[in-house]
Amino acid sequence: MFWVQKVKNIVTSIVLLVLSFSVFAQNHVEGLRIWPSPSTTRLVFDLADSPKYTYFTLSKPERLVLDIENTKKSFDFSKVSNDSNLVKKVRYSTAKDKQSIRVVIELSKKLEQSIFALPPTEPYGDRLVIDLTDGDEPSSPQIVLNSRSTTDRDIVIVIDAGHGGEDPGSIGRAKSYEKNVTLGIAKRLQTLIQQEPGLKAVMTRTGDYYISPNKRPEIARKHKADLFVSVHADAFITPQPSGASVWVLSMKRANSELGRWMERTERHSELLGGAAEVIQDTANERYLAEALLDMSMDHSLTTSYDLSRDVISQLGRVTKMHKKTPQAASLAVLTSPDIPSILVETGFISNPREEKNLNWSTYRQKLAVSIFAGIKQHFRDSPPDGSLWASQKRQIRTHKVRSGESLSLLAQRYNVPISQLKRANKMNSDVVKIGQVLTIPRT
Ligand SMILES: [Zn+2]
Repeated sequence: MFWVQKVKNIVTSIVLLVLSFSVFAQNHVEGLRIWPSPSTTRLVFDLADSPKYTYFTLSKPERLVLDIENTKKSFDFSKVSNDSNLVKKVRYSTAKDKQSIRVVIELSKKLEQSIFALPPTEPYGDRLVIDLTDGDEPSSPQIVLNSRSTTDRDIVIVIDAGHGGEDPGSIGRAKSYEKNVTLGIAKRLQTLIQQEPGLKAVMTRTGDYYISPNKRPEIARKHKADLFVSVHADAFITPQPSGASVWVLSMKRANSELGRWMERTERHSELLGGAAEVIQDTANERYLAEALLDMSMDHSLTTSYDLSRDVISQLGRVTKMHKKTPQAASLAVLTSPDIPSILVETGFISNPREEKNLNWSTYRQKLAVSIFAGIKQHFRDSPPDGSLWASQKRQIRTHKVRSGESLSLLAQRYNVPISQLKRANKMNSDVVKIGQVLTIPRT
């Protein structure tokens, strides 16, 4: 009883201590870096803590006004060197309350802005980043770097069959090897992807041989993959656990990989492609590489999460899910902060029933079909820039109703559910008139 009370007291005082810290600890600006490039300027505010902020713009003259909550006025912006032709001046203004600061960024013209916070990454702490882009300039370096030469290109999906060669992966009770299960499912997935116009599949391995976990994402990078899918089978010390799960790179690992990459100069040119040779000065190159990587990391983590949700919803139709939400992990094969990557644990090879299933070709096909359906669903909704699917999505199909045609007949012909046809054409009934022009949505 005494102990319970004592523990309670300690817990209460810790809670109070934490509460008081979060109320009174104030954030403060530790520095400002201004990075100009021909048509963009990036402002990076270094902060003691993650910022809570809002912003708005004012015109005549053009200004961007930033309010950061619970922050002290501690840093002198007049000392910051500024070579940007887009930013005239950075200064404080009257804050909206005593606990916050207001920073005014005076701009030379109307600019597009993108504002986001970045978590600590060595050597930096918490940051608030403002990217200012001159919309009048035809091309910013990033856009050039991201564009690919071909239009209507294939969406590249790199399929990675886990383990192989001297690495069997997990071994089931009936002595099935994970490496064989993963290759069986991966090959089926490859066939499905290859059959789909606009998609291209690349395998990290096509037979029973060993590839190191680090080499696998490199293959994806070499092929400019839009997606990296690693196929595995789970195992546990007891036979009970069962079901599939989908894993994505954790934000923490992504950040540490990002930091590690930035330390290796040869990686900068790899990331920047041909542009690295054009950028003569090293500071600029590092800035561009970091900006690019920050952006693509954001994109790839979001894509990975979205995609894993789609894959989970499809997998759930053919198998029990061990985990119903995407799992974030620091796994050797998920180390690409720049390429959307997911790892699918298709089931537990250590569970006798699932081991049997995983060796069954019909079941492997079912798994491959559902992973494929999830991937397809994702890229139909958000096709990557420049892909055939992106240009198909832009083209709107129409149909002029002829005599004898009904809504159900057209739905069947275009393989679109009647409900979608009605929604796309804002129809309340199933009646169509001859000569009526209908929009046919893409499914
Ligand atoms: Zn594995």
